[in-house]
Amino acid sequence: MTTLAYGAQAADQPVAPMTIERRAPNADDVQIDILYCGVCHSDLHQVRSEWQGTLYPCVPGHEIVGRVSAVGDQVTKFAVGDIVGVGCMVDSCQSCPSCDDGLEQYCETGFVGTYNGPTADAPGHTLGGYSQRIVVKDAFVLKVGHDEQDLAAVAPLLCAGITTYSPLRHWNIGPDKKVGIVGIGGLGHMGIKLAHAMGAYVVAFTTSESKRADALALGADEVIVSRNEEEMTAHANSFDFILDTVAASHDLDALTTLLKRDGTLTLVGVPEHAHPSPTIANLIFKRRSIAGSLIGGIAETQEMLDFCAEHGITADIEMIRADEIETAYERMLKSDVKYRFVIDIASMG
Ligand code: NAP
Ligand code: ZN
Repeated sequence: MTTLAYGAQAADQPVAPMTIERRAPNADDVQIDILYCGVCHSDLHQVRSEWQGTLYPCVPGHEIVGRVSAVGDQVTKFAVGDIVGVGCMVDSCQSCPSCDDGLEQYCETGFVGTYNGPTADAPGHTLGGYSQRIVVKDAFVLKVGHDEQDLAAVAPLLCAGITTYSPLRHWNIGPDKKVGIVGIGGLGHMGIKLAHAMGAYVVAFTTSESKRADALALGADEVIVSRNEEEMTAHANSFDFILDTVAASHDLDALTTLLKRDGTLTLVGVPEHAHPSPTIANLIFKRRSIAGSLIGGIAETQEMLDFCAEHGITADIEMIRADEIETAYERMLKSDVKYRFVIDIASMG
C-alpha cells in the first residue's frame, strides 16, 4: 500500500516528503495507522550516516504510537482499533539464547531495526515511523494502556523510555541508591523520571545552566552543572550508578571519579566520535565498571509501558509538524529540546 513518509535520499539531503510501499499484512502482522512518532537523536545520527552504513532512502522513526487498522488471520493479541506502540525493533531470529531470554535487542544474529534493517520488503531495508502507516509482526507490537489524550507523550517511551528503564532495572536501582543521570535530553529526562519513580536519590548532570530548575521539576533531588568542577568534586566516590546519555564525545574520567567502590557508569549515548580513552587507574582502584546498554527486550518494553501507565509517567514533549523535522534536528544539536520532539503524523496529510 502506498504510504506518505518523510525521509532522506542521501546523507547530505534534508528529510523531505516521499511515498513508500507497505506490505499487505501477513498472517502474523499488525497494520498500524501511525498517530505520533518521537524524534530520537539516533534518527539524526542515522539519517546523516554519522554511524556509517545508512541505507537510502532512509525513513527514520522508532518511537511509534498508532491505531491498529488491520490484522492478519493468526493475530489474537490485537484487534482493529487498539492503540499500540512500536519501538526500535520489528523482528529478530526468535530462537537464539538472547531471544529465548526475552532480550531480542541482543539477538545473536542481529535484530531487525525499525529502520535501516534487512527486510524482504522494498527497497530491501526497513523504513521507520516518520510515515502514515507501518506493518509489523505481532510479536514486536506493544499494548498502550495510557489515556488517549496522552498518546503523543507516550511515543518517546518506546525508545527513550525503555533505553533508560532497562539499565536502571538491570543494575537494581531502587531506594537507597544514589543515581546520576548525565545529559538532560530525550533519554536523560526520562532517566530522571524513571529513577525517581523507582525510589532512587537522583542527581542530574547537565551542561545547560538553563535546565537546572527543569531537572528538579522532572524529579531530580540535586542538579550538577557538569562544567563546574567544584560541584563535581563535591560528589567524588559517592554514586552507586551513573547513566550517561550524552550524544557527543566527552571525558569519562570526570564521571568514573564520582562512583563509589563497585559502582558502575553505564553508557547509552552513541556519539559520532569516540570518547577519549578512560583512565584505567580510576577503575582499578575502586573496582569500578564502565558498561553499555542497548534499548530493552519486548517483554521489558511492555513492563516499562505498564509501569509508566501505572505511575502516570509520560515524556515532556514539543509537538511538531512533519515539515519541521530538520529544524527540530538543528535544535537537538544545540541541546535545545524540552525534552522530546514528537511528530504529529496527521500533519503529513
Ligand atoms: P538528545 O535529546 O539530543 O540529548 C542528549 C543530551 O546530551 C543533550 O540534551 C545534552 O544535555 C547532552 N549533551 C552534552 N553535551 C552535548 C553535546 N556536545 N552535544 C549534544 N548533546 C550534549 O539525545 P537523545 O535522543 O536523548 O539520545 C542521546 C544519545 O543516546 C544519542 O547518541 C542516541 O543515539 C543514543 N541512544 C542510544 C540508545 C541505546 O539503546 N543505547 C537508544 C536511543 C538513543 P544537557 O543540555 O543536559 O547537557
Ligand atoms: Zn531512539
